[in-house]
Amino acid sequence: MGVMTARTAGFCWGVRRAVDMVLAELRRGGEPYAVYGQLVHNPQVIQALEDRGVRLCDHPESMGSGTLFLRTHGTTLERRRELCELPIAIRDLTCPRVGRALALAWKKAGEGCDVVVLGDPDHQEVRCIVSYGGGRARVITGPEEVGSLGELHRPFLLSQTTQNTETWERTRKRMEEAYPDLEYSCTICNSTSLRQEELRRLCVKADCVVVVGGRNSANTARLAEIAREQGLPAFHVETQDDLDGNEMRRYENVLLTAGASTPSWSIRKVRERLLEIQGGRLRIGRVRRFLQNAVYGNFHVLPVTFALGAAGACVMSLERWVFRTLCASLFLFAAHLLTSVLESGYSHPSGLGRQEFLRDHSRLLTWLSVGAFASSLAVSFTLGALWSLVLGLMLAAFLLYSVPLMRRVYPFRGLRTLPGSRDLMFAGAWSFLLAFLPGYTASGFHTGTLLWAGMLFFLFLGRCLLADLVDLQGDALMGMDTIPIHAGRARSVFLFWTCFAAAGLLLAAGTLTGRLGTATLLFMPGLLTLAAGFFILGRVPFPSELAKRTLADGSLFAAGILPGLMLLAGGGSC
Ligand code: SF4
Repeated sequence: MGVMTARTAGFCWGVRRAVDMVLAELRRGGEPYAVYGQLVHNPQVIQALEDRGVRLCDHPESMGSGTLFLRTHGTTLERRRELCELPIAIRDLTCPRVGRALALAWKKAGEGCDVVVLGDPDHQEVRCIVSYGGGRARVITGPEEVGSLGELHRPFLLSQTTQNTETWERTRKRMEEAYPDLEYSCTICNSTSLRQEELRRLCVKADCVVVVGGRNSANTARLAEIAREQGLPAFHVETQDDLDGNEMRRYENVLLTAGASTPSWSIRKVRERLLEIQGGRLRIGRVRRFLQNAVYGNFHVLPVTFALGAAGACVMSLERWVFRTLCASLFLFAAHLLTSVLESGYSHPSGLGRQEFLRDHSRLLTWLSVGAFASSLAVSFTLGALWSLVLGLMLAAFLLYSVPLMRRVYPFRGLRTLPGSRDLMFAGAWSFLLAFLPGYTASGFHTGTLLWAGMLFFLFLGRCLLADLVDLQGDALMGMDTIPIHAGRARSVFLFWTCFAAAGLLLAAGTLTGRLGTATLLFMPGLLTLAAGFFILGRVPFPSELAKRTLADGSLFAAGILPGLMLLAGGGSC
């Protein structure tokens, strides 16, 4: 079984715009927040917004102050007028493409036309179009209802934005036959038609279609309907739990698509579940699950840091590097593990499988990180007073920064809220423990040590940006705090390439000036993996958590593995 994911799956332009506007408003402040009706037809998005303090509100009259968002599907003319009288800030999130349909209905009704809407009469958007079309607007659900319209004066036909394009064509033709003076405008939005076209095109390669989206989402239901029209079994699921493993095993090629209001994390989880079912069938499920859990539990940090520690010893010609690297690796592993466990506690419950894994095993993993911290401190005692002192201080700083209980007594609480402070802190810790401290304690202060530490810093920061750029809006909705959420995509991409270039320049400077050994050139695969990861993750729709972390952390491993192996092959010298 293969899982093919439609490129158009997930948030459309209008939903993306609405969510961005809500998040921007939340950053500005203007509580309490409420949304009039369902912002979009998706329970996970509604829940995520509620968790961020945006509650659903059917009676805004009860709001004495605050901000009210108007949903993407539009608000009827009469209701809009009433809401504008209230003493609250109104933020209209009506999709501009819905707005175009409303404006057309208003204009044509004003010109004396009888407006006819093709769509679902119970859908909010259609109710709005009818309200803008005045008393003249009528609704039909398909060509078979054209006969019931009777006599019309200058009929004008338009459509619900998420209508099936084929139904529109058939209805338009029937209307033209019945009303030769028909005027019409196809108001099906581009995003909907592209999604439907892609589905029809990909159906020939699939045995069944899985459509992810809210049960009350009209455009999601229409996708399932189109798949069935193409002769394929279609499964409309809201979450991965709705998938029937036995049923899905019957199909070789599964096409995965999603409605316009389906968040990326829902699609990713359904995709991961389908891949798991695929793995079970091909007997690679256990291997995949093992690797996935190893990455979720941050266990890969140990070999990655060890490879980088060995690489540092190689390029800086350090002796007796094993215990220093072991000490740094244990500390960094413990810090990553504890941070992940703590963050999983306050991330959104419908987050990725990684959060679920961390929450399910939080007690064991917390004790494991405590054990790793203790082991790291124990090893530091064999390395001298400076190592013990530095590790003790770093541990205290880490706990004050990360552990919520400790943060209450932490005098610099503002540091935690600095955008990207977590990534900068880890980048600093990696370069300090794996490069600067071993280099300094082994052979004193050298320019080469600084160059190597700088390379690690920029490589690690680039790796963080790469991972955080994958699902910027999903992360923001789930309340995560990353550099791209604050800086935006364009600036973060620029920052990513700046890190890439800075690491490359330091590499060139270290090698050309002879401050670092020629083995430093073997750091190049790390940079190349980072760049490849950027292009691959940018092209693959909804990459799995495993793929994302393999590529991001793979760049660190690739940077260290060759110099590290060279060191081992040389019996301790490169
Ligand atoms: S499907 Fe189209 S009309 Fe509806 S919200 Fe998205 S972009 Fe706007």
